[in-house]
Amino acid sequence: MNKLIIKNVSKTYPNGVKALDDVSLELENGLFGLLGPNGAGKSSFMRTLSALQEADSGSAMLNEIDIFKTPTELRKVLGYLPQEFGVYPRITAEQLLNHMAVLKGITKASERKEEVNYLLNKVNLYEKRNKSVKGFSGGMKQRVGIAQALIGNPKLIIVDEPTAGLDPGERNRFYNLLADVGEEVVVILSTHIVEDVKELCTKMAVMNEGKILYQGTPNNAIEELEGKVFQKMVERKELNEYADNFSVISNKMVGGKPVIHVYSDEKLGDGFEMVKPDLEDVFFSKINTSHKLV
Ligand code: ADP
Repeated sequence: MNKLIIKNVSKTYPNGVKALDDVSLELENGLFGLLGPNGAGKSSFMRTLSALQEADSGSAMLNEIDIFKTPTELRKVLGYLPQEFGVYPRITAEQLLNHMAVLKGITKASERKEEVNYLLNKVNLYEKRNKSVKGFSGGMKQRVGIAQALIGNPKLIIVDEPTAGLDPGERNRFYNLLADVGEEVVVILSTHIVEDVKELCTKMAVMNEGKILYQGTPNNAIEELEGKVFQKMVERKELNEYADNFSVISNKMVGGKPVIHVYSDEKLGDGFEMVKPDLEDVFFSKINTSHKLV
């Protein structure tokens, strides 16, 4: 069992933005969802954990490896699929993976070939190995991205916003691949898409403004909200009034009219009906509570 223990990590950029504010997390093998809206600090956190940028304070240990003190040790056991892994040269999938394997230090050609073939099969691209990656669909490119992240048997895999731009079918195939990969390694999946976490992750955290606002299982988070989420269809012009008087979690258009979800410890009348909370309510209640509500 691998363990990643992160303690009190903070990071302020030179422009004064505090991207990470005392972040502490404990992770084991499996898929961990880091959920947060754009600008929450997810990429900053992923880059810090990948030792691509330094933290101002705090520590991060992957098993016995001190990530901040010995980044080269970390790189040997890290697989990273960055958000921008989308620029591909005009080479085949096989050549690309072979090249990445050289960079990862697999010097023996026969060993590399074996590894590359194994990975091409694993991500279901063996048949396409001689095709140019540039012409691949978004989903196929992400599978190449996962294959390169898996080179050299990593213990920690970091995947930053992997499903943006994938259609629902591709997204499902990608989910299955990640779930398969996640059994023996620590996988951190950073995303602003609630679906990604709901489908895949047994453990999760919600991040906003550089802070961890929740850490646990998706189910526990949902249970905490049980009986406290109320829904009402309102008029568009009433939205501000509701926002002033209630803890509005979210607002969605249904058939052209806003339907609001409201958090309340007490039962609400006046046209509100209690609804079964879901992970989206968890997400919005955590991030909204962190600034404008309560
Ligand atoms: P996310 O990945 O959740 O969208 P980021 O980590 O990219 O969040 O950004 C967190 C905050 O830090 C944002 O306010 C962003 O503008 C700021 N930020 C990110 N990278 C830099 C940087 N290199 N220099 C200054 N500010 C940055």
